Formats: sequence, structure tokens, C-alpha cells
Amino acid sequence: MPQAIFLKNGRIIDPVNKVDKKGGLLIEKGRIKAIFTARQKPGPLPKNLLSIDLRGKWVVPGLIDMHVHLREPGEEHKETIASGTMAAAAGGFSAVACMPNTIPVNDSQSVTRLILEKAASAHARVYPVGAISKGLQGISLAEFGEMKKAGAVAVTDDGRPVMDSQLMRRALEYASNYKILIISHSEESSLTRNGAMNEGFISTSMGLKGIPHIAEEIMVYRDLALADYTGCRLHLAHISTRESVNLIRQAKKRGCPVTAETAPHYFTLTEESVKDYNTNAKMNPPLRTREDRAAIIAAIKDGTIDVIATDHAPHSVLEKDIEFDQAANGIIGLETAVPLAFALFRKGHINATRLVELLSCNPARILGIRGGSLGIGAEADITVIDPEQNFVLQEQDILSLSKNSPFIGSRLQGRAVLTLCGGKITHNLISP
Ligand SMILES: [Zn+2]
Ligand SMILES: [Zn+2]
Repeated sequence: MPQAIFLKNGRIIDPVNKVDKKGGLLIEKGRIKAIFTARQKPGPLPKNLLSIDLRGKWVVPGLIDMHVHLREPGEEHKETIASGTMAAAAGGFSAVACMPNTIPVNDSQSVTRLILEKAASAHARVYPVGAISKGLQGISLAEFGEMKKAGAVAVTDDGRPVMDSQLMRRALEYASNYKILIISHSEESSLTRNGAMNEGFISTSMGLKGIPHIAEEIMVYRDLALADYTGCRLHLAHISTRESVNLIRQAKKRGCPVTAETAPHYFTLTEESVKDYNTNAKMNPPLRTREDRAAIIAAIKDGTIDVIATDHAPHSVLEKDIEFDQAANGIIGLETAVPLAFALFRKGHINATRLVELLSCNPARILGIRGGSLGIGAEADITVIDPEQNFVLQEQDILSLSKNSPFIGSRLQGRAVLTLCGGKITHNLISP
């Protein structure tokens, strides 16, 4: 391993420090040693230097995916911490937050610790997210303080809603005492039961039971009301509908302490992808209408949505290669997030700064973790994106153990070509 790495001639984009300039970045002992503009001479460089020319490429703070299912412990045939973080690095992520619906559930310090032990040798930083309720049962609260002490950065019952409003209220209050983030999977489950896709004309014509958009919006409304009432901070996961973003926009205007994320599939695809019964278009919340997709893009543009997170949900063919209404929900997302988000830039919806905020700065700030900027002295978590590179996603190139992606065979543009985590190269498509 070289003593030092010099990333030169790239476009350095660091929204937190208000930087967007051509220049070079020197990394030594895993940290950012110096940043040079294109005109500055870097002076004497250290020996044993790996110099990488990044002409035409973007150099941005390491991307952070705050919504990932790593499946370990318990379902290692779908994904492991090792394989999931390898996929993360390949997709340009230097850090991920992993959801607690493993087997056993991460509802205690012992499971949180186990995840962190395994993550010590992983290809990206792993931030465990604990459960809100013990066993995700929705009955009694898990030990937030213990999990936080062990390293958890947030709590959620993701995969399931917290249906009991009093429990959710207590969770918000308890979490604010421990300064840990609550993430809501917003779903009114009595309205979604047995539903397989978005409810509407297409679900009716296909003979599939629908999930109405109000199932999400009712819970978004409830959780915003609880956040208002308690004054406690709330983060809403995978927002997918027009009325949800309207509610969040109003809530932010009145000062409600809320942040929100969406996933790339909600601003890329619509329910029309389900038409050929492709189970890789089945997720929860389901793909919505064109109007919903337009509203999600508008919310990304105006700041109503703070974060793009993948909801990376690996499933094996056993769970996906079956009848549509029986198939598991979710798709993998780590290796396609950058090009799908980059399409928002390419189509002129957002600028480069905003793209980096959505994928790095905001998740770092919301979770209260390191990263999200390129300050001198900071650990060198860095992603390099080639805005010109396009590629066809091939199943055999996917590093995730599961291949459940609706984007296999699609031509994608904008690719993470180099990822560094703590100064270590974890992904490299640029020949040195
Ligand atoms: Zn969820
Ligand atoms: Zn999820």
C-alpha cells in the first residue's frame, strides 16, 4: 500500500465547505493532508506516492447510504456484511447504515456489537440501526440507551410500521433523551394487508390487490403530528407519494423537526414497471404513478426531501422467482444509486452540489456521523464519479449476493469509479 495518494486534476465538490473547484487532494496516513487548486503547486510530495489523474471526474465526500438491509446475522444467503459493503464500495459508498430486521433482530447491545465486530474488516463503514420495539413486535420499547452506547446511530422498526401511536410517541420522547434518531417506516398496515402493488387502474386490470397511497400518507401525517406534539426529531424513510411530500413540505414550513428520504426507484420508475409481473418491480412502499414520481422529483429539488437512500433489500431467487403476489418486497440498490441519482443532474433537475448533499452531506448530518465533507485533517472517505462513463448493468458484475434489480440490462450513465474509506481504496475502476 502506498504511503500517500494524490488525487489530481479532479473537480472537487464539497458543499459543506462551499468548495467547487478544479484541484488536487493529498491523502496521507488515511487522512486528507492538503487540498490544492489547479493553479497551486503542491510543493514537494511524499515518496512512495500513488498519483491518480482524475481529469473530467468529480471528487466528492464519501457517499453515505442511510438505509440498507445487510441481512447478517441470520440470512447470509441473501447478503452478508462483507458482500453488502463490497457492493456499497462498488457503488461509491464509503458508509452505510444497516436496518435492524435481521435474525435475531438488532434490538440489543449484543446484536449491535456483533454487527460492529463483523464490520471491522468490511469494505465500508457500517452504522447499525437498532429496533424501536423489542423483536419488532410493536409492543414494548427496546433499550435505546444500551444500543446507542454499543454504537447504534438510529432506531426504527423498518419493514414494519409502529402501529401503536402511544408507543411511537414514547419512542420519540425516549429517543430524544438519548439523542438517537427515530426513523419511521410509514405504513398503515390495515390498508396494505396482502397488497402487492400500487392501488389503481393497473392493479385492477392485473388482478392484483392494491396498496392505496393513503396507507403511507396517514402514517406520515400521524408521525408528523407526533413530532410536532412532542417537539422530537423524526426522519421519514422511503417517501413515495405526492401527498406525503405535501405533508412534509407544510410540516417543515411550520418548524416541525423532520427530515425525509426517498429511494432512487421512486424518482426513476412507476407502477407501469409491474405490468409484466416482474417481481423486481415489487417493493414496499410500491412503485407509484407518474404524478407521484413528478412530485418526488419536485420535493428533491426544493429541499422537502433531504436524502437519497437506497433501501437496498437483497432477496434470493427463492423469494423473488415466484408468483407476483407471493414474492418478497424490495430490490438491491447500492450498485445503481449513483447513476440513477446522477440522472436527476443530467436532466437538469438538480446541480452537482445538491446531488452531493443528498448522497453524503445530509445523511452524515442527520445521523450525526463523521464524513459528508472534505476538510483537511478529516479521514479520507472519498468518492470519485465519472459523469461521462456509461455502462450496461450485467448480472454477473453485481457484487451483492442477491441480484434482484429491475435495472439489469439497462444502460446507466454516471458511475463511481473510485471509492476510498479511511484512505484505503475499496473500489477502483481507474487503472493506476
Ligand atoms: Zn421500510
Ligand atoms: Zn428498508
